[in-house]
Amino acid sequence: MKNNGKIIELIVPCYNEEKCIVLFYNKIKDVFAGMPEYDFIITYIDDGSKDHTMEEIKKIVSQDGAGRVQYISLSRNFGKEAALYAGLSNCTGDYVAVLDADLQHPPELLKDMVSAIEEEGYDCASARRVTRKGEPFIRSLFSRAFYHVINHLTVIDLMPGSTDYRLMKRDVVESIVSMTEKERFTKGIYAWVGFKNKWIEYENVERAAGKTTWNFWGLVRYAYSGFIAFATTPLRGVIYMGMLVVLISVILAIQIYITALGTPLTDRTGYSTIIILILFFGGVIITILGMIGEYLARIYMEVKNRPIYLTRETNIGQDKADEVK
Ligand code: UDP
Ligand code: MG
Repeated sequence: MKNNGKIIELIVPCYNEEKCIVLFYNKIKDVFAGMPEYDFIITYIDDGSKDHTMEEIKKIVSQDGAGRVQYISLSRNFGKEAALYAGLSNCTGDYVAVLDADLQHPPELLKDMVSAIEEEGYDCASARRVTRKGEPFIRSLFSRAFYHVINHLTVIDLMPGSTDYRLMKRDVVESIVSMTEKERFTKGIYAWVGFKNKWIEYENVERAAGKTTWNFWGLVRYAYSGFIAFATTPLRGVIYMGMLVVLISVILAIQIYITALGTPLTDRTGYSTIIILILFFGGVIITILGMIGEYLARIYMEVKNRPIYLTRETNIGQDKADEVK
């Protein structure tokens, strides 16, 4: 290490990012050249990449020589959320930042983030996109709708445009790591743990290289899982809906009974009533079962208590192991 400054550890999830590894490293070196009072550690989390990401990381490790580049290679693709957890649960820096490998989370913001913590007394600082320039219209539209719904229906408040790029003090990291749920929704977890957070705004940046692994349905699944992870309101809503339907059906039954009294017996078939009722209740029951099933599935996964990630290979702690030898 160059000096005895505070260490900022950067947790970088990488899935098929062979083109970005070097770009990212060089960019970080540039940024830290302007912050001489801090040292950095980059912890790349290889999330089961199928390209040459790992080779690129190892190249950087030997090139850096100062022990500032670490990696954890997961045994398969566990998803970005699990990769972040792997990084956070192994980090040692005084401050820890979480950011994407593709430079869409501008490392220049780290300077403002550190000063928010050190000078303004915040516990963490997070980046927030104020424009969605370069993003497909439909994606922005859905994302806005998502924030609207999640903020109204769940216990957490998400800031529109918030990203999972943030710099944190150790206490915040430890709180996040203490949440061991398997279906992780990082933005929701950030909001849930609380602490004093400063929002730092930036304009949307395009990927440095490579292409996004997210597609439309991937994002829909992500939004849905965030919603289910933090909302118990849908379950309650379903119960109210069930009660309302029962009430409506009682009123309807009374009404049908009264009209039937005035109709000659031979004209009363009752088919439509029966069909409508069957369809109606069928629909309601399926909805309720679906909702309950969703939560049951989540409970099942949590109860199984599987690890969030598995490591295939890492160089963390290797220096110490070498010293012992
Ligand atoms: N990522 C990951 N595991 C995955 C998918 C993505 O670790 O299964 C990483 C990816 O390498 C990148 C970050 O998560 O560093 C964000 O992914 P991406 O750029 O594809 O998403 P977008 O920026 O389009 O939301
Ligand atoms: Mg990206």
